[in-house]
Amino acid sequence: MRQSSAKLIAIFICLVLAYGLAFYMAFRTPSAEGEEAVAEPIAQTQQTDEDIVADDGPYDETLTITAGDTLASILNRFGIPKAQAHEAITALSKVFNPKDLKTDQEVYIIYDSQLEGEGYDLKFLRIRADLDHDVELVRSGGGVFQATKYKKELKHEYASIEGSIKISLYADGLKAGASPKMLNDMIKVFSHDVNFQFDIQPGTTFSLFYDTYKDEESGLERPGELLSAKLVIDGKVHEVYRYQPPGGVPSYYTALGEAVRKMLMKTPVDGARLSSGFGNRKHPILGFTKMHKGVDFAAPKGTPIMAAGDGVIERCSPYSSYGNYVCIRHNGNTKTAYAHLSRFAKGMKSGTKVRQGQIIGYVGATGRASGPHLHFEVIQNGKHVNPTKVTQLASNKLSGTTLASFHANKARIESIRREKAKAIDEPQKVEIIKAVDPLSVLLKAQRMAEKQKSASVISKRNGQTSNLTPVYNLLKE
Ligand SMILES: [Zn+2]
Repeated sequence: MRQSSAKLIAIFICLVLAYGLAFYMAFRTPSAEGEEAVAEPIAQTQQTDEDIVADDGPYDETLTITAGDTLASILNRFGIPKAQAHEAITALSKVFNPKDLKTDQEVYIIYDSQLEGEGYDLKFLRIRADLDHDVELVRSGGGVFQATKYKKELKHEYASIEGSIKISLYADGLKAGASPKMLNDMIKVFSHDVNFQFDIQPGTTFSLFYDTYKDEESGLERPGELLSAKLVIDGKVHEVYRYQPPGGVPSYYTALGEAVRKMLMKTPVDGARLSSGFGNRKHPILGFTKMHKGVDFAAPKGTPIMAAGDGVIERCSPYSSYGNYVCIRHNGNTKTAYAHLSRFAKGMKSGTKVRQGQIIGYVGATGRASGPHLHFEVIQNGKHVNPTKVTQLASNKLSGTTLASFHANKARIESIRREKAKAIDEPQKVEIIKAVDPLSVLLKAQRMAEKQKSASVISKRNGQTSNLTPVYNLLKE
């Protein structure tokens, strides 16, 4: 009896030791033979880094004020919680009366998804109060908003970015030195003319000409306005120029002086997120059999969908096999329809006025859809037409003295651009201006640091070491 209980105790001790050893083996810090284990997570973190560049925050966007917009309604549209929006507006009111916001004025904001919770945090907001003053609102780490109004004393410069597409406009654009905002601006100005799902192909070249504002003290540089942009697809040149007609607001025009804003967008979806695998590109013609009344854009669920032109929402509800469906009435007997949405944007209902480029909903797969995509239709005089063929809503070509002034402005942009190109070509080509929005890079690094913190909490819980440090270093470059 004694002997057998001693045996049991011995077995028990052995088991405890074995488990202990097993735990130790599993959870100790990787050392000598752990080299492989370290190498692998680095590869993973690099992938994470790419993901962050592609769809992770922080996000920045320039929004044009529409009639009826208030600062609160704008922040609400971006998913900023009500209480936080209220704090932001209270802080801003100290230096700028939100009621002074005018239609067509631009608001630049940086926001980021909350680490916990479904909404977004407002990180930064800038309003051009007038020509000489900017109003900026910054949210500090502690969540306190601080507003500043200052006279612009930044050094005005120009930045020229050129490249050709090997993988995607977005990836190759970032590689060429453009910021996400610049690329989104470019996609927006060309989405009237180019179907970013079908038309872009390897070998497409792009160039962007920007003005930038440099704070010489800190060396920080902010992208200003896109002055001109060019896409050459299969030898066909697409060009736009920024121009402010007398008494009007700045807008983009084709080389011939046609306002792009008055055209229907051919890519009414965040072009940066389109799935553009060149290998399985669908031929546009195949998209228009008798049964298919529109064109499909494959994009991840949740990708923002924009109104293709100014108009009024006629229908915004589920609609049989179309799933969640939006129909917009534009002038000139033209309607556009958007199907399979995962959800509608806030405030969308029949009768709502929308501006071109305004987000009306998000990509999904509701109704009869095999996967997430936007099904887009154009209806003219009651008939479905090929969306890639129709772009003109109403003729809005500049004429007379305005057209002459447009051409003079275009020539001026071209000459500054040539000067700039000459200056870059001459002594050292190293000084190609890399106009990445520094604030957004900074915020990205900050966010990574926060992520790293929370990740290390999780990994501590799992008894493993954190391998997230390399990501932070990559982002700092
Ligand atoms: Zn379809």
